[in-house]
Amino acid sequence: MREVQLYDTTLRDGMQGQGMSLSAQEKVRVVRKLDDLGIRFVEAGFPGSNPKERELFETLAEVELRQAVVCSFGMTRRRDTDAADDESLQLLAAGFVPVVTLVGKTWGLHLEKVTKVSRDENLAMIRDSVAFLRDAGKRVIHDAEHFFDAYRDDPGYALECVRAAADAGAENITLCDTNGSSLPGQVAEATRTVVEGLDGKAEVGIHTHNDADCAVANSLAAVEEGASLVQGTMNGYGERCGNANLASILPALQLKLGYECVTEEELSQLTEVSHFLDELCNMTPDPDQPYVGRNAFAHKGGMHVAGVNEDARTFEHVDPNRVGNQRELLVSELSGKGTVVSRAEQAGLDLDEQQSQRALRTLKEREHRGYHYEAAPASFELLLRREAGAYEPLFMLEGFRVITEKREDGRVQTEATIKIWIDGERYMRSAEGNGPVNALDTALRDAIGDRHPHLADIELTNYKVRILDEHHGTGAVTRVLLDSSDGEREWGSIGVSENIIEASWEALVDSLEYAFQPRDERPPAGERPDTARTT
Ligand SMILES: [Zn+2]
Repeated sequence: MREVQLYDTTLRDGMQGQGMSLSAQEKVRVVRKLDDLGIRFVEAGFPGSNPKERELFETLAEVELRQAVVCSFGMTRRRDTDAADDESLQLLAAGFVPVVTLVGKTWGLHLEKVTKVSRDENLAMIRDSVAFLRDAGKRVIHDAEHFFDAYRDDPGYALECVRAAADAGAENITLCDTNGSSLPGQVAEATRTVVEGLDGKAEVGIHTHNDADCAVANSLAAVEEGASLVQGTMNGYGERCGNANLASILPALQLKLGYECVTEEELSQLTEVSHFLDELCNMTPDPDQPYVGRNAFAHKGGMHVAGVNEDARTFEHVDPNRVGNQRELLVSELSGKGTVVSRAEQAGLDLDEQQSQRALRTLKEREHRGYHYEAAPASFELLLRREAGAYEPLFMLEGFRVITEKREDGRVQTEATIKIWIDGERYMRSAEGNGPVNALDTALRDAIGDRHPHLADIELTNYKVRILDEHHGTGAVTRVLLDSSDGEREWGSIGVSENIIEASWEALVDSLEYAFQPRDERPPAGERPDTARTT
């Protein structure tokens, strides 16, 4: 079978997305992670002269990678200049990276209205620039900018541009849907024509944007027509609506189309790498993201849970383990004892018949009071642990006090004092915070930090408050949902009370106690190795 290689441009095109910024050292960490995942080409950006880029390329020159090839990125020469005199091309030629990706214009409209370069000069710019880098010993990938618009506008000229790059020695011509306007049928037809037209002289690649919500579909359509390189970004980061999402393309190629882009073991790191990128870029992981999202394999309805337990294929398009995700059985009033038993098994707990019934009763009674365990699996596991007698309290609370003071000058100050007992020893701590929950959180972590230093590193990633009965105004019941992370895993906890501080406290304690419980990991309930499949 034909080989399909993945090309990651998170560090260049992905950084065009809103609010994206990484230091040189962070970018190096990303390169290593993508290398772990088995991504073949990692584009680091333009090796320009600003200090951040210099630091990045200098560091990368020293980094030993398992298999990934680092690429630099640049443009064809300026018009009416010799390629050899173009400073940007000189920098690209002088760099340590073996592969240079060179973007060139393809679309008449772009040439006439924006760059004001004649069609012939544009062809010469492509030819000269590729040849110059080839002479300097570089492998060249040519990005044909706006290729699909160009092809719809004037297929003859679009193909001339592509051929110019191939004739000058580019090993791969990547067709770019730069403004994300194309649909899968259009991409398929144009790609087929280019693959036939180049007749093996160069490989064909695909680079799409998601403006029409078709970036992944367009990438796959191109592969089915003979493209052997797919450019994209992790989690689809990128300008406007983003680039093609490699976190979806990789498993689709591998598990549905049968290409071996990476090893099975590399593929099983997909979820972790996706979340790592989110963490580093300060983005909240999208729970509904296909393959890697927390809800991607979450089952709610009682019938669905029963179906998945019988044969996972009924409601799961791929085996979650293969992409490093896991099945999640959501608890809700819809579901019955089956979910309770499955969730207990997942947590490594053995509930007998009586305990399961009691857990179910407690669950229903609490849901009635406003608890909502679908987004709070950590709290639910603690509930089950209590029923199973497998619950270990982290500490005993003697009491806490929170004071919020507003002064004449408008400043608001909050201070929390907490007294707890751990193994017969009393810890009292005070802390200030920007609000009561923050102060309480800081004081509590400080108090448990001596005995359980690893719990101090857990980060609260999301804090959501919802008023359950709006008619009661300030006297209404408050539900607090808290997401926590230890950098690898995320879990949700919940608190419900008429007092917002009490509700927050409950969710906070659940979050830490969940991390504290000893557990031997078992594969999620209902997992059957024999249901693994590739198509
Ligand atoms: Zn792009």
